[in-house]
Amino acid sequence: MNDFVYRNGVLFCEDLRVSDIASKVGTPFYLYSKNTFTSHFHAVDQAFGELQHLVCYSLKANSNVAIVKLMANEGAGADVVSGGELFRALKGGVDPQKIVFAGLGKTAEEIEYGLNEGILMFNVESSQELMLINEVAQKLGKQAPIALRVNPDIDVRTHPYIATGLKKSKFGIPLKEAMAEYEVAQKLPGLNPIGVHQHIGSQIMESSPFESSLRKVGNLAKSLKVLGMDIRYINIGGGFGIQYTDEEASQPDQFAAALVPLLRESGCTIIMEVGRMIAGNAGILVTRVLFNKKNEEKKFVVVDAAMNDLLRPSLYQAEHHIGPVVYKDGTPEEKVDVVGPICESGDFLAQDRALPEVQSGDLLAVFTAGAYGFSMASNYNSRKRVPEILVSGKKAYVIRRRETYEDLVRGEAIPQDL
Ligand SMILES: *Cc1c(COP(=O)(O)O)cnc(C)c1O
Repeated sequence: MNDFVYRNGVLFCEDLRVSDIASKVGTPFYLYSKNTFTSHFHAVDQAFGELQHLVCYSLKANSNVAIVKLMANEGAGADVVSGGELFRALKGGVDPQKIVFAGLGKTAEEIEYGLNEGILMFNVESSQELMLINEVAQKLGKQAPIALRVNPDIDVRTHPYIATGLKKSKFGIPLKEAMAEYEVAQKLPGLNPIGVHQHIGSQIMESSPFESSLRKVGNLAKSLKVLGMDIRYINIGGGFGIQYTDEEASQPDQFAAALVPLLRESGCTIIMEVGRMIAGNAGILVTRVLFNKKNEEKKFVVVDAAMNDLLRPSLYQAEHHIGPVVYKDGTPEEKVDVVGPICESGDFLAQDRALPEVQSGDLLAVFTAGAYGFSMASNYNSRKRVPEILVSGKKAYVIRRRETYEDLVRGEAIPQDL
């Protein structure tokens, strides 16, 4: 379900023509639908409605403060993985008691920040991190609420870069060591173990990996309670898959139908960390065709957006559907690579893709770019990062302006004796 639809061959975002917005803000730019964001959040929230639960929006998918505020207004918590994301979550008005802090390399400074803000809990990824959190909490005269992120050794069929629940993965604590680590944590005065956490990967299309993994994690929670620990939360992580091209992804109510029965008996509050499923189809990247070009083997469409704006095709061989912003009648299709201006062969948005023939100046929409789009953007090749526009009905808001050349050198300094 999303609010980017063609009416008579013209692409709309909610009630606005995408081409009209392009005329106002120039290209390239990210365009988000407020209604898609909120309806995706509510679809997840309602699917698990039967359980005591908390949906934490994963900031790394799209961390613009306006988006964070939008999610907070709807009642979402936040899943953060750095001090910077914690700052954004607080700035966006997320209740600290709804913030969970993950990540396997937390610094003492980040831990102190989280403790001082009174976040709901830290998701801990190693025994050394456990020691550090204990130390920092004691120094502040506090007790840190924690969950251990356990690695359930689950093989999720997804891109290797986004599978996180395998034995060889850098994430989490092996399930068979978890019990001992909890017993250590229980004895340390600066720690209060209140939950169990897993996150097994991303772009997971069906519920079965969650089912196998939650059986293991549910058993762990049960054993910990038997030992007298006050385990009140099971955090099932994120990773719910979405449709990018023609793959079929389970819907929130299908995930819930499979998982709720497994979780009901735990008596725990269930936390979900959801990024892609909320943000992915709530955004597109709009780009303009600069040139058509042909070499002996291939045809290329050179556009003004590049891998620094949308990294997923280069990084994960991800496929994003691309379509014209305005369809022209009777245009034949041809097979092309859609490439950006960056000096890297890996700089492409699509390869060997059938697309209606385009001319210089035409607009293209790269769909499903709301998650891991702008949040992964960089200034590589000294390119200005693009604006982000949020549409609500007939209104469009610039929620991040286009960078300037001056922005590019902000913070840099030339030593006086140079
Ligand atoms: C990235 C991440 C998520 C969100 O993943 P999605 O696939 O976007 O839902 C959730 N939890 C943790 C710990 C993460 O690292």
